[in-house]
Amino acid sequence: SEQPKVTFNDGRAIPQVGLGVWRTPDDVAVTAVGEALRAGYRHIDTAAIYENEEGVGKGLKAGGVPREEVFLTTKLWNERQGFDSTLKAFDESLARLGTDYVDLYLIHWPSPARGAYLDTWKAFLRLHEEGRARSIGVSNFTAEHLDRLIGETGVTPVLNQIELHPRFQQKALREAHDARGIKTQSWSPLGQGQLLEDPAIGAIAARHGKTPAQVIIRWHLDKGLIVIPKSVTPSRIVENFGVFDFTLDAADLKAIEGLDRADGRIGPDPDTAT
Ligand code: NAD
Repeated sequence: SEQPKVTFNDGRAIPQVGLGVWRTPDDVAVTAVGEALRAGYRHIDTAAIYENEEGVGKGLKAGGVPREEVFLTTKLWNERQGFDSTLKAFDESLARLGTDYVDLYLIHWPSPARGAYLDTWKAFLRLHEEGRARSIGVSNFTAEHLDRLIGETGVTPVLNQIELHPRFQQKALREAHDARGIKTQSWSPLGQGQLLEDPAIGAIAARHGKTPAQVIIRWHLDKGLIVIPKSVTPSRIVENFGVFDFTLDAADLKAIEGLDRADGRIGPDPDTAT
């Protein structure tokens, strides 16, 4: 297919736009994944804690696209951190997904208070060696957490999935990723929908004949980010994938850069979230 991909430090590649399925009930996930596959998506982002891995698996099976053509990510929930518990949680995720491998397995949060992300990562290394987690990465890690993983194991995560949108652009962490060969994946890329009413985004959208959601997703692509917008509405699933036929110009990028806010974070702080 024509869609852009990003290549990881392990040589594998991920389609740059995927479907996020947080807050998507299990039965709705079946149809949302089906709609996404029909629209051309080949990348789905779920997590054990979303309680829809079964629905995602069913949607993939019913979608008629060969398993090896779809990039599937799931995540280990915080309570399951630790070496043995991670291996067990992974088996449970695969069983629910109805597949014998995932393309990407992520530590969902570092949860430093648990003191277990290093042992968890060692279990991830085993799953990677077994070929059942084709690539391994993390989510919500700070530069300090990343350096501890890399320093202790010598293995660099392929990506770090972090809160990132025009109001919280994460410049310092993106630079830390670039310096370490880690790709950046944006969660809540639309600011959970809050950014769609922004007048600066609206003006750019009007000039390009695009929607605000398309402009924001295009901004992530133009920044080299991997992006996983969420919708369960068929027309919006299609709309969010209609981003490969235009690019933003320097003035657009400058206007969006001006939306960045030090207090723009919506979700939890990774240093204190448990
Ligand atoms: P998002 O920024 O993708 O926004 C989704 C919301 O925006 C939708 O619920 C809908 O209300 C609105 N929307 C989407 N497309 C639209 C359109 N075309 N027009 C109008 N409104 C539209 O928010 P999100 O779901 O928080 O983030 C995306 C994905 O990121 C999640 O589904 C999940 O897969 C992942 N995520 C990961 C973490 C993590 O800790 N790793 C945390 C949050 C989200």
